[in-house]
Amino acid sequence: MQDFPWEFETLAVRSGHVRTAEGEHSEAIFPTSSFVFGSAAEAAARFGGTQPGNIYARFTNPTVRYFQERLAALEGAESCVATSSGMSAILAVMLGLLKAGDHVVCSRSVFGTTTLLLQNIIGKFGVTFSFVELTDMAAWEAALQPNTRLLFVETPANPLTEIVDIRELADLAHRHGSLLVVDNCFCTPALQRPLELGADIVVHSATKYLDGQGRALGGAVLGDKERVGKDVYAILRNGGITMSPFNAWIFLKGLETLSLRMKAHCDNAMQLAQWLTTHPNIAAVHYPGLASHPQHELAQRQQSGFGGIVSFVVNGGQEAAWKVIDATQMLSITANLGDAKSTITHPATTTHGRLTPEQKATAGIADGLIRVSVGLEHIRDIQRDLARGLGE
Ligand SMILES: *Cc1c(COP(=O)(O)O)cnc(C)c1O
Repeated sequence: MQDFPWEFETLAVRSGHVRTAEGEHSEAIFPTSSFVFGSAAEAAARFGGTQPGNIYARFTNPTVRYFQERLAALEGAESCVATSSGMSAILAVMLGLLKAGDHVVCSRSVFGTTTLLLQNIIGKFGVTFSFVELTDMAAWEAALQPNTRLLFVETPANPLTEIVDIRELADLAHRHGSLLVVDNCFCTPALQRPLELGADIVVHSATKYLDGQGRALGGAVLGDKERVGKDVYAILRNGGITMSPFNAWIFLKGLETLSLRMKAHCDNAMQLAQWLTTHPNIAAVHYPGLASHPQHELAQRQQSGFGGIVSFVVNGGQEAAWKVIDATQMLSITANLGDAKSTITHPATTTHGRLTPEQKATAGIADGLIRVSVGLEHIRDIQRDLARGLGE
């Protein structure tokens, strides 16, 4: 046992694992659907909750538990519930914490599928939603209703990397008796710990940086024992949105290198953003590390790094943007992000393609906008690949 509190990097490598009698050094995978009890009385005690231990892998599996405990240590959370995907983590929060008649205020700049899940699916069960500009505090306040139960944000947001003050938003939520939920996918706990800033719940798509190598789908919900440990856990146990032990093992390995990888993503992204600002054919670069970013100072305060996502607008609209994308030979044309491999996306015709021209204009999704999830390749190769279609 540790006799002093471990630092983040140490927790990422060492926490959560309980070695079995076999003495394995790396975490074991437990591909078993159920667990055996020593006696009828022990089975009764496990089911009755008076004796802790494994029961059935829909809601108890050692490999998954290792991952939950490691991620909880990194986010500074009392409880963590691992889920089958990032979307099922958000689903579990909504089903676990809301009831008919409740209201949610959500940032307009959230993952597209999150908006569809809330409006089209959770909305069927008598929950109502308001969508506001992420950085407009007056709009958040104005949208609050007596029945507002949750505020939901992603920060930095996709694809323009706008940032909201988590502490300020958490204070607003608490003054109105609501909870703040933060999707911490872009930063990960290596760069930002929303619970320490006053947020109540953190959700993750582990599919992105927590794995970091594009291998598996998974998600997690983190927060206190009551809401996450009981209410969200009940959705896992009864709804079966379970993370597979194989995926949990991948994410455990991903967490071990999270801190190093995030530093490298940030370094590459910063260099790419600076290079792009000097390019004559680029009209705008969005990256929280640039002094020109509207929330640059907030990012310095709230995050310990500026992240791996850079977006920029090329002169010449969609045609010019597609030319840059199609000229790349190394970058992967895919909407995925948070991978060791750099990826490139044209938001206006993919992730944000369902928006009307007016909605795109309000959301700042220009036709020339390109989003790059900056990977771990050498920065010179990323620049050379992008330079091909940018012209001089
Ligand atoms: C990808 C993503 C999700 C959804 O996660 P899945 O693992 O694909 O279900 C949710 N939020 C954000 C910010 C994401 O990037």
